Amino acid sequence: MKSFRQELWFEVKGRRGLINITPQVEEALNTSGIKEGLVLVNAMHITASVFINDDESGLHQDFEAWLEKLAPEKPYSQYQHNAGGENNADGHLKRTIMGREVVVAITDGKLDFGPWEQIYYGEFDGNRRKRVLIKIIGE
Ligand code: ZN
Repeated sequence: MKSFRQELWFEVKGRRGLINITPQVEEALNTSGIKEGLVLVNAMHITASVFINDDESGLHQDFEAWLEKLAPEKPYSQYQHNAGGENNADGHLKRTIMGREVVVAITDGKLDFGPWEQIYYGEFDGNRRKRVLIKIIGE
């Protein structure tokens, strides 16, 4: 069995943003040379997510509005977590809602997606450098 590890770095300008990272994951898969196996992609920070969904801008605006209803950024004082001087409690909650990681099957050297599936990095407390881990195992 072979294994391959790579980190991707992002710095989202602004508090929140979504980035389609499918091309970077495909590039890592090509570099790994692995044809059959699994790829794990996870956010390495507790205020960022990796998830799979559609590359459709209306849906991305819907995610933003939906997450702001569930865990509004402001007022900061509504959260116990922010009492210690932080202001990112909503980012932790949004990360938990949208998930930490995805696992995708690799078949014949390709990501074995269902229709319209794309891998996204979700930033919920941006303006700083943050990492995503790609781990590929197989042969
Ligand atoms: Zn925090």
